Amino acid sequence: MDFLESEEHTLLRKSVRKVAEKYGHEYYARESQSGGKADALWKELAGAGFLGINLPEEHGGGGLGIYELAIVCEELAGVGTPFLLLIVSPAICGTIIARYGTPEQRAMFLPGLCTASEKMAFAITEPDAGSNSHDIATKATRDGDGFRLNGTKYFISGHDEAENVLVVANTGAAKEGGRPRLSLFVVPTRSEGLTAARIPVEIQSPEKQFTLFFDNVFVPHNRLIGEEGSGLKQVFTGLVPERITGAALANGLGLYALAKAARYARERKVWGDVPIGAHQGIAHPLARAKIEVEQARLMTSKAAWLYDNGLDAGEAANMAKYAAAEAGLAALDQAIQTHGGNGMATEFGLADLWGMARLLRTAPVSREMVLNYVAQHSLGLPRSYGEPR
Ligand SMILES: Cc1cc2nc3c(=O)[nH]c(=O)nc-3n(C[C@H](O)[C@H](O)[C@H](O)COP(=O)(O)OP(=O)(O)OC[C@H]3O[C@@H](n4cnc5c(N)ncnc54)[C@H](O)[C@@H]3O)c2cc1C
Repeated sequence: MDFLESEEHTLLRKSVRKVAEKYGHEYYARESQSGGKADALWKELAGAGFLGINLPEEHGGGGLGIYELAIVCEELAGVGTPFLLLIVSPAICGTIIARYGTPEQRAMFLPGLCTASEKMAFAITEPDAGSNSHDIATKATRDGDGFRLNGTKYFISGHDEAENVLVVANTGAAKEGGRPRLSLFVVPTRSEGLTAARIPVEIQSPEKQFTLFFDNVFVPHNRLIGEEGSGLKQVFTGLVPERITGAALANGLGLYALAKAARYARERKVWGDVPIGAHQGIAHPLARAKIEVEQARLMTSKAAWLYDNGLDAGEAANMAKYAAAEAGLAALDQAIQTHGGNGMATEFGLADLWGMARLLRTAPVSREMVLNYVAQHSLGLPRSYGEPR
């Protein structure tokens, strides 16, 4: 067992950070507030090969793993420039297509994702089904050499900047009254019959949120990923990378907040010549937050290592996401407190990240659904809700 990061990983961290620092949190906040996409930063990261680092080399990706993509996510958030679309486009969509796409589909979709010149959104959540993916109502019905999609998805990040959206749809139950069988479709975002309505949210990020309405949207058969009806199994393949990169993003936010808080606590003096960091009322909560962020980082590394080694990473990825979301949020909260009134000042670049840090407790998977998973899978406790049909 080796807990030391390799030279290559250290170099990757430094290289990502160097690019992100050129832009910094001020650029990110300005772009997010003005409706920009932080394109210049995205393009420079893409050009350096960081955004498709986990995707196959044969299609232009880095040929590395989720550990490396998690480094990219953490370092970006560590500079105050987190991208939600990294969780979606290379981590979920890229992983699923690389694993289940036919050679033609891989050749069609992966090169754009590998170079990050194209983005893919991901649509599973629905207004009525919520956390219960078994109740997905968006229907895909066969029509000639394809399918017709009808239904509604909501909180779909980055739909406006993506060329395609990977949609989880219901292709009918195997037997009367049985569970719906889900299938995955890569749908062009500009398809006829597909409309999007922006959802205003209190999160400052370059990615905007949308409700998607599918009104008889035609999707050719060659855009069905994997086997019809096996969508849920395929989605799970993408959800482990989703949780790991979500955790890495939260860890990065925690580190960003703690670095700012520690600097401020070392410099700010309000009782004579003693910096506020000398008071244990300031030092201890920051120390506790640091411990919690480092614990979360350790669990995130473990989850990524298990995944990249082809081992079952479900439990570790869920635990990492839980720990990181809680630790990142607590660190940001304490950093704001450490700054006193300045914690709310735009100039200090903390309070505007609150929405993003708070989001990670709810998405990509909610705190409660992780607790349900651990209660059932790790502790063998009975499931208290939605017994399988
Ligand atoms: C900014 C943002 C971006 C998002 N991006 C995407 C995206 O790109 N693609 C996408 O598909 N989705 C996306 N989502 C959706 C997100 O994944 C869901 O909001 C999240 O999974 C929770 O689902 P829900 O909102 O339907 O809550 P609900 O399922 O309605 O749950 C409401 C509350 O009840 C709790 N709860 C539900 N069931 C149980 C239970 N059995 N036991 C205990 N507690 C329970 C939940 O944890 C939650 O706290 C995004 C959401 C946001 C806010």
